[in-house]
Amino acid sequence: MADYQTLTQNLERLGYQVTHFATAQEAADYLDSQIDQTSAAFGGSMTLKEMDLYPRLSRHNRVVWHWEGASAEDAVGTEVYITSINGLAETGELINIDGTGNRASATLYGHKRVYFVVGSNKIAPDYDAALWRARNIASPKNAQRLGMKTPCAAKGDRCYNCQSPERICRALVVLWEKPKSVERMEVVLVDEPLGY
Ligand code: SF4
Repeated sequence: MADYQTLTQNLERLGYQVTHFATAQEAADYLDSQIDQTSAAFGGSMTLKEMDLYPRLSRHNRVVWHWEGASAEDAVGTEVYITSINGLAETGELINIDGTGNRASATLYGHKRVYFVVGSNKIAPDYDAALWRARNIASPKNAQRLGMKTPCAAKGDRCYNCQSPERICRALVVLWEKPKSVERMEVVLVDEPLGY
């Protein structure tokens, strides 16, 4: 069980807003209330898909998601960006591994508000453990989902640090603190496992 009190204190000290919900349903209700009459882009995220957020937010916002037919470029310039994270350290580091680069870069620059929705399975005690889970749990599962010809997708057990042409791990972004250009960056914690 994650130490949510320590995690919240560390995140707030680093400039993030933190909200915490018992269920994904409650977190979805909250985001539905906060993101209203604006433009929002989604990162590739099984968490967001499991929460069924796209149809909900689309009813009263302009929502851009490349998993729903938009191009990744369409996400540039929306007021809001929503995604999840591959590993969140209780010490406050947010870790994402990316292949295309759109998801990780969008969390750094170009949106006024960024939300990270984080299930309980994404939290690790410290930076090394969070990086380990991002590399050895999240990435192999994503490679399997995408049907990549990589050793991790074949076995699903760990990262092999492959040099495969279909390698999905091409960039590692670690947020040490909220970037200055983003006005509001919020970590939405959920006491349920979500995504990979
Ligand atoms: S580096 Fe290669 S083996 Fe490791 S998780 Fe990424 S795609 Fe899989």
